[in-house]
Amino acid sequence: MPITTKTKKEIGILREGGKRLARVLARVSAEVRPGVSSRELNDLAEKLIREGGDIPSFLGYAPTGAKRVYPASICVSVNDEVVHGIPNEGEKVLKEGDIVTLDGGLIHEGLFTDSAITVGVGKIDEGAQKLLETTQKALAVGVKAVFAGATTGDVGFAIESFVKPFDYGIVRELAGHGVGYAVHEEPFVPNFGKKGEGAVLKAGMVIAIEPMLNEGGAGVKLAKDGYTYITKDGSRSAHFEHTVVVTENGADILTNL
Ligand code: MG
Ligand code: MG
Repeated sequence: MPITTKTKKEIGILREGGKRLARVLARVSAEVRPGVSSRELNDLAEKLIREGGDIPSFLGYAPTGAKRVYPASICVSVNDEVVHGIPNEGEKVLKEGDIVTLDGGLIHEGLFTDSAITVGVGKIDEGAQKLLETTQKALAVGVKAVFAGATTGDVGFAIESFVKPFDYGIVRELAGHGVGYAVHEEPFVPNFGKKGEGAVLKAGMVIAIEPMLNEGGAGVKLAKDGYTYITKDGSRSAHFEHTVVVTENGADILTNL
């Protein structure tokens, strides 16, 4: 499928959907504490999304090559789980000091937004704090590199250059992506790259930017459930994501509160 641009009207709908998604993630993350299970967080997210009249876009999603559809409304990934942790199978009870990524998507009036945050459970150690802060900053750096005429390689280059001094592993197998008409669209937006390479961004394109950083090496592997990506070396991983619309002057974040 070619890369699409969205109309003004569609961007308005995506902005409302993005705001709703940001509210859901804020309310779910406020419930993160020791003793809460991943299933409870999933159920709350689903309830909040549906209360707003929207649809959880991940539930029943069939990614290319997957053997079964995704069985939950959000992804909840704990510690060495990078992304796509299934919250309602092999349910996890959160412990003090864990870090947990909440990745959600919703369909508002037919249009899709996507956003993720990583938060600490109770008190977290300095290393976890730094990993979270750096990943969130890496997202901001990526967003700043977006404007009409820039390339996906420019975005990846900006993120990679920012992360380099920290000695974290940048996950390479997973990346940002176009979004809006579907959960995943073209283009692929890697978190590494070379200036000038990749797809040229145009005003009206809607993309998700989502750096994933590991405390150790960059390697990841797919767990037996067919969805959860975990770090190869068992190190912790963080992930922050926004859906943005490309404008002539920059990126406009759609998934802010
Ligand atoms: Mg996401
Ligand atoms: Mg995404």
